[in-house]
Amino acid sequence: MTYHVLLATGFGILTWTAWAEGSTIFVVKQVATTIPVVIIIGQIIYHKDDHWHDEADPDCLSCGKELELDWDFCAHCGEKKPSEFLTKEGDSKVVSI
Ligand SMILES: [Zn+2]
Repeated sequence: MTYHVLLATGFGILTWTAWAEGSTIFVVKQVATTIPVVIIIGQIIYHKDDHWHDEADPDCLSCGKELELDWDFCAHCGEKKPSEFLTKEGDSKVVSI
């Protein structure tokens, strides 16, 4: 995020410089490079609370939070994932630990 803000600031300064020099093509190029970075910053802010969700991911038996299939331990409470668990669809999955 810091990287993108610094990048947008730099592109913004270059846009202002191009404007001050009266170079239309330089202004257009700088605006065309600044806008995507600003859009990326907006996307980062808009999606900052999003969480990847997969229907096959089981819930922790201890705290109830979602686990990733390749996790051996719950990242939220530290509970060891049992070797066999039920997914949200009710299918029994066996995980080798
Ligand atoms: Zn847990």
